[in-house]
Amino acid sequence: TDFASLGLAEPILRALTQEGYTTPTPIQAQAIPHVLAGRDLLGIAQTGTGKTAAFALPILHHLADRKAPAPRGGCRVLILSPTRELASQIHDNVKAYGRFLGLTTAVVFGGVGARPQIQALSRGVDILVATPGRLQDHVQSGYAKLQGVEVLVLDEADQMLDRGFWPAVKRLSSVMSKNRQTLFFSATMPTEIAKLAGEMLKDPAKVSV
Ligand code: AMP
Repeated sequence: TDFASLGLAEPILRALTQEGYTTPTPIQAQAIPHVLAGRDLLGIAQTGTGKTAAFALPILHHLADRKAPAPRGGCRVLILSPTRELASQIHDNVKAYGRFLGLTTAVVFGGVGARPQIQALSRGVDILVATPGRLQDHVQSGYAKLQGVEVLVLDEADQMLDRGFWPAVKRLSSVMSKNRQTLFFSATMPTEIAKLAGEMLKDPAKVSV
């Protein structure tokens, strides 16, 4: 398999060539067709497997394919991550893979000033990467609106549970449209995580590496 045969849009393929990616990793080869088809996804994969591109590339394709304005005060795609380091890294990857698409993005996490985040949110962005606690603060203060989210990604769900973020994740997801697509990634799948995945996902495709 190569990236072109997965059906990704040309500007994405061009960015991947610049990144030096030639061949999809196993999680990418397995996950990308399901996400492009609009399915919910349950992915069991560790960091280092290429899981970020596994969700980011088909999401970028969706946004390239179905251009629409970013909702004011909100986002079309929300990626939740357990740590600010991972959130920044995902945001950097999304910007790199999407560099020829002209999309807007923002990253939101705790421990830094809220004002620049609020400014970015007020205009609305195509893709928002966030840690759950700080995003929940912005939702409660009315600065972030999640009703327009088309795709929700939960990255490292097991870490979000361990760090006590699950109540925030549940509250955030409860205000989003039920028609959204949800992609759920975890390095491990103990019974508790499987149960939470079951509550969040509709008839998910399952991939594991
Ligand atoms: P991740 O598991 O998403 O943290 O990715 C691990 C590393 O693999 C990152 O440095 C990516 O830039 C890199 N990577 C992801 N997909 C590919 C690919 N298909 N070919 C080469 N490198 C990749």
